[in-house]
Amino acid sequence: MKKNIQEHLNDLQSWTKYKKGLCDSCAGLCCYMPVEVKVSDLIRLNILDEFHLELSQREQIKDALKHPAILRYTPSSEKFTLKQKPDGSCFFLDINKKCTQYDQRPDTCRNHPQVGPRPGFCGYMKK
Ligand code: SF4
Ligand code: SF4
Repeated sequence: MKKNIQEHLNDLQSWTKYKKGLCDSCAGLCCYMPVEVKVSDLIRLNILDEFHLELSQREQIKDALKHPAILRYTPSSEKFTLKQKPDGSCFFLDINKKCTQYDQRPDTCRNHPQVGPRPGFCGYMKK
């Protein structure tokens, strides 16, 4: 299953043009992609606190990396990457395939698929 999902996600030509309602019958493949997040996302997710804005970037990075949901920090993009579970799903996806942080989810998730590897298209896969 994991291999099929990852192969499908890596093959952008196999993606589907997004339209309203498409998510209703989808297995939620966009939650199997690496998610890059900013400090503002981390504050909304309660991984960092507002007071971190007054600290140095070095301190922000150090504290964010202590959280189990954070895999790494990439200096060139100044973004963090959320950890994925062994099956490729996002750290925040529960066993019922629901986002446990939906109301606080990162901008990357909110903007998908308008912003993403193939804008306007997504890795739709029927449930
Ligand atoms: S992959 Fe596309 S259709 Fe599926 S849940 Fe994500 S945005 Fe919706
Ligand atoms: S944060 Fe939520 S919406 Fe975003 S990829 Fe993870 S489970 Fe999906």
